Amino acid sequence: MGILSYWKIILEILLLWYAIYMMLLFVKGTRSEQLLKGLLMIGIVYIVALHLGLDTINWVIARLFPISVIALVIIFQPEIRQGLARLGQFGIRQENIGVIDEISRAAISLSKKKIGGLIVIEREAGLKSYIETGTPIDSEVNSYLILSIFIPQSPLHDGAVIIQHGRIIAAGCALPLTQEEKAISKTLGMRHRAALGISEETDAVSVVVSEETGSVSVANAGRLTHDLDEENLTKILKSIFYSTPKRKVLFRRKAQA
Ligand code: ATP
Ligand code: MG
Repeated sequence: MGILSYWKIILEILLLWYAIYMMLLFVKGTRSEQLLKGLLMIGIVYIVALHLGLDTINWVIARLFPISVIALVIIFQPEIRQGLARLGQFGIRQENIGVIDEISRAAISLSKKKIGGLIVIEREAGLKSYIETGTPIDSEVNSYLILSIFIPQSPLHDGAVIIQHGRIIAAGCALPLTQEEKAISKTLGMRHRAALGISEETDAVSVVVSEETGSVSVANAGRLTHDLDEENLTKILKSIFYSTPKRKVLFRRKAQA
């Protein structure tokens, strides 16, 4: 066997391994998970029956197999379609689609009501140490929830909301303050310094709404962009998150999965 054939085999194994890995990630926690486990059981029974020479069981499973493949395609038609659509959007971090719209909506509502807010979106660098300073939440990102958190009477309104893996993971978190005196105008207080600080210390992006002026700003990589309306805010966030290099999209997924 030539060296080329070895490479082919290795490549095939890697591709298969990756496909199975992605499939497991994809079905984790969905209704397909139980089904996949069931299929795995049938596969094991089949192999055992084959080795023990249990012909009747083998016969039944072998006959059922083609039918079940067709049944699976029909049952999981929506999932399959979604999966293929995802393949076509590799450059986009799925977990942040929809999330950005909710965050923008929340920021604009806060702005209209002149309620101060600070929302931090985790990227590659983990924000665990900051998350731990706050109160844990684990919720889908929902503009109403964000709004409720920042209402001044709310016990969690002080500090930052942190978004991790497309979920609101904590509220009331304390962030590091920027040390850059020049970068920030005198009128900006602690909230904006915190928004800038976290964007300097990590690659996280923060959205900050001023209580005093209602102005919405985004801090990214130590720079603050001011006075954003909903359209510009969404545009900025999408341009940050949708341009994440593919390499990172592929390998960073929810750790618990
Ligand atoms: P605003 O325009 O809303 O007044 P500001 O930048 O002037 O914002 P302050 O008036 O100092 O900021 O806002 C104080 C609020 O900022 C605090 O109530 C708290 O919620 C938040 N904050 C202050 N320090 C931090 C920090 N280290 N991490 C997270 N949030 C902070
Ligand atoms: Mg202030």
